[in-house]
Amino acid sequence: MALRRVARFVGAIGLGLCPLLAAQEAQDAAAQIERAQELACRGRHAEARALYKKLAAEFAGTEEGKLAAKRALPSALLGACMLVENGPSAKRVDIVLLGDGFELDHQRAFDELAEDVPPLFERVEPFREYWSYLNFVRGVCLSADGGIDGFGRDYDTLLGGFTLDTDAGHASVDGEKVRDALEQIPGSDALALVFVRLGLLGTAGGGIAVIGGREANTVIHEWGHAFGGLGDEYSSRTSKHRTASAGINVALTDDPKKVPWRHWLEARHPSVGVYEGASGQPMHAWRPTASGCAMNDGQAFCPVCREALVLRLYSIVDPIEEVTPLAPPPGIREPIVLWQDPIEIRVRTLKPATHDLEVRWWIESAGMYPITPGPGGPAEARELIAPTKETPGDRTQRGPLRALPVAPYKEHDTGKDGVATLRLARDDLKPGLYRVTCRVKDTTRLRGERFPWVLKDERGLLESERVWWLEVR
Ligand SMILES: [Zn+2]
Repeated sequence: MALRRVARFVGAIGLGLCPLLAAQEAQDAAAQIERAQELACRGRHAEARALYKKLAAEFAGTEEGKLAAKRALPSALLGACMLVENGPSAKRVDIVLLGDGFELDHQRAFDELAEDVPPLFERVEPFREYWSYLNFVRGVCLSADGGIDGFGRDYDTLLGGFTLDTDAGHASVDGEKVRDALEQIPGSDALALVFVRLGLLGTAGGGIAVIGGREANTVIHEWGHAFGGLGDEYSSRTSKHRTASAGINVALTDDPKKVPWRHWLEARHPSVGVYEGASGQPMHAWRPTASGCAMNDGQAFCPVCREALVLRLYSIVDPIEEVTPLAPPPGIREPIVLWQDPIEIRVRTLKPATHDLEVRWWIESAGMYPITPGPGGPAEARELIAPTKETPGDRTQRGPLRALPVAPYKEHDTGKDGVATLRLARDDLKPGLYRVTCRVKDTTRLRGERFPWVLKDERGLLESERVWWLEVR
């Protein structure tokens, strides 16, 4: 025992710092990095770089020192600045705008380019309706050189932009370098729009859309690929090597019972069919709409693509923004006590531009939910107590919510302020322990539209719930 205590003491001396001082130092370093980032965001790039250089030396060997050293390199991400903030990063889709081949003198040009992006999204559905679900972040991206790799030339740029071997020479970037930049941005959803200064056209995949030059008209199309996993609905060949690949909006069959958008055909949406020519192939590949989709030649997304984009938004954004009182985590039954004074449970939801989310409340006897699942307990209860697989920022793993066995206690829309309230007084319920559930769902039904925007939601992404326990005395 005594020996171990001595060893621990020697260990602390060996570090040369008491842990408290080390924590203080890390805090200082983080604050200084924040300051350098602010300088970069305000266009004071040279000062930001000088500060990073100083911090790299001062905090050498620490995480902060390593980050500062990376940011003092000739090609570096100097910081990330909020361009449009509709809510906290953890509860929104953060679209990060990055640039490649922008030297120190080009920074103002990139800033202007970045500022033009949010208005493009604001004009196109479903991003207009779900505008408040998005944040835009501008990266301050410094490249040592202003060129683009290809044709035997090699430049030092932040994201390794290069020209692809396509007929038209599409611009692309080094995905690894983009991911490294995104990892430096807190709250990032690993989604980026990258502008390659001297590039042409665009490419996309895995959450990253690449735009050559200033081709604003390709931004939305490439974002459809990067964010929605959508395929091309045009039929002209872009490369002789290209083959068709099937996906959400591209089929390799014209059988209406087998195409991925068959649920739209079954629902008889007037503008959805099966048309030959897609994925850069004039034949043997089919698309859902004749023309007009942003994945083809148009400005707006077709119903099939729009559905996929709405579901993608909800794979990241929970329709419930916040609740008071806080709902306890699954497995904890700390109850709210309802005795003399009435209580209020308040739920704030996200707010699409023109339609309300649907809110339903249930009050069930806690006896329906035995704590230790065992023989005789209802199967649904057992399922419910099982630990959830959901990880923060990924709503796709939870699966649809099970149907509750009783009718809702109350049903309403969130209304203008996006707040739903359940008010309960002691006389409303008999004494006992209850389970209160609030479910918020986006029906995706917009006023004046015959069809909801989402017809099929197999993973239950449009819906979310919170659960409280209530003790009535
Ligand atoms: Zn489409």
